Amino acid sequence: MSASIAIGSDHGGFEVKQQIAGILRERGIAVDDVGCTGREPVDYPDYAREVASRVSDGRCAQGILVCTTGIGMSIAANKVPGVRAALCGTPDMAAKARTHNDANVLVLGAVGSDPKSVGDIVAAWLDSAFSGEERHVRRVGKIEDPLSRDCGTEFDKADPETFAAIRAEITRQQNTLNMIASENHVSAAVRIAQGCSMTNKYAEGYPGKRWYSGCDYVDVVETLAISRACELFGADHANVQPHCGSSANMAVYFSVLQPGDTILAMSLSHGGHLTHGHDVNFSGRLFKVVSYGVNRETETIDYDEVFRLAREHRPKLIVAGASAYPRALEFEKFRAIADEVSALLMVDMAHIAGLVAGGAHASPVPYSEFVTTTTHKTLRGPRSGMVLCRGQYARDLDRQVFPGLQGGPLMHTIAAKAVCLREAAQPAFKAYAAQVVRNAQVLAGRLAESGLRIVSGGTDNHLMLVDLSALDLTGKDASAVLDKAGIIVNKNSIPFDAKSPFLTSGIRIGTPSLTTRGMKEPEMLLVGGWIADVLRAPADTALQEAVRARALELAAGFPVP
Ligand code: PLP
Repeated sequence: MSASIAIGSDHGGFEVKQQIAGILRERGIAVDDVGCTGREPVDYPDYAREVASRVSDGRCAQGILVCTTGIGMSIAANKVPGVRAALCGTPDMAAKARTHNDANVLVLGAVGSDPKSVGDIVAAWLDSAFSGEERHVRRVGKIEDPLSRDCGTEFDKADPETFAAIRAEITRQQNTLNMIASENHVSAAVRIAQGCSMTNKYAEGYPGKRWYSGCDYVDVVETLAISRACELFGADHANVQPHCGSSANMAVYFSVLQPGDTILAMSLSHGGHLTHGHDVNFSGRLFKVVSYGVNRETETIDYDEVFRLAREHRPKLIVAGASAYPRALEFEKFRAIADEVSALLMVDMAHIAGLVAGGAHASPVPYSEFVTTTTHKTLRGPRSGMVLCRGQYARDLDRQVFPGLQGGPLMHTIAAKAVCLREAAQPAFKAYAAQVVRNAQVLAGRLAESGLRIVSGGTDNHLMLVDLSALDLTGKDASAVLDKAGIIVNKNSIPFDAKSPFLTSGIRIGTPSLTTRGMKEPEMLLVGGWIADVLRAPADTALQEAVRARALELAAGFPVP
């Protein structure tokens, strides 16, 4: 979280704001001045919202606002979730606002204030910190229920049971370290879009060609989502309607395959996905599936074997992509193999889409006829799916999604996809993607240093597989003891696993969520040490409790968005 202070004023508070900027700079505090810039009349809510949102989303540690009376600024700032803006007329009020109320935005009225009192109030504010006393923690906790981030309505009265469960889940996410590689924490903007009134709208069809009236605004969001997806990934065409990753894959299969056609894809037990041809899944039931895997020695994809299988079975479609593969996928090699046997290539980039968007993994788009993805993993969007394809396949693909597989699209989710695709195009997302990979590599190194075996010797992406065979611990038990220590992972088969998929010899660990919370290399070293300690002493419940307390403390310093 930034240590800077955001300041803002309207025309009535301009001179006082300038004085405050000087006070802060004299103290060596970084100042983020959002304006205004003079005595020209402006609207105070614009500045209040700007300062408050920088505090709310962590860009600034605190805020200071000034208008003529301070009243308008406090009313406006307090509308922003997570902001506790306090209008203070004396140094004592400012000190108490910090110590008792954990206020994070100081508001001053310019009228009647003199430079000395302004200086004293700001100094009292800066020199005070939240007391942390139980009664104040309890009272501040009652000001803002975590759920108000999402709805801010009377939801608790409408459905107390559901409200309680959602609130408990929000608290669980905040209080634990989530290292499930396929999960993430979306932004407030994505959550708001996902919960918006577009859920009320039927919009069968596509923008401009709907079966229902009243689609003007849902057309806007779907068009935005499509164009943002194409631009972000450099694709000819995007279909943003699939409800999930599985239906995205199904749409591609149905657009180019007939039942009984052959697919060559990675086996689930070596890191693939159910929809890549597992026999309990629609993909394995409808199509003839030939599976490739990893080399026993290197534990990386055996491209020679993929080539050999392709030549032998002449698949119509080759599927690349995985849900538990820690190494970079070599799309040129898949393309060369597909070309050699005249197969189409589909890359399921569900796990790595955010890394691709942020430039931390090579893009499959130039190499493949189709690219499918979920939008909720590293891409950090709503729980959903999407397909990108070359222009010549666009019409068939769209017809497979609707009316082939789905009825009305989830327009609220498509709105959230539009938001996440815009976020993923920002420079900050590039930095995020790079940090996800750096964090995974540091974590894998720390685990290896502690004597744990990392499948394939490390990671190139956001996840790693830990082989627990030498510890005589199953993945099932390992994930259970880590859960007790406040660290959430999932059991996962490792290649050539001797144990059943229910028990497994491995766990999968990922860094997307912790990286979203702002954790970097030092935190990875810390968490890696805890994971290794807990796994090496799975019966030590006192250790699990001690790690849980430390994990909780760490989590408190890195709020979920
Ligand atoms: N493809 C891959 C590689 C995945 O990892 C997943 C989900 O884990 C999917 C597809 C399916 O996504 P969904 O759960 O949204 O159907």
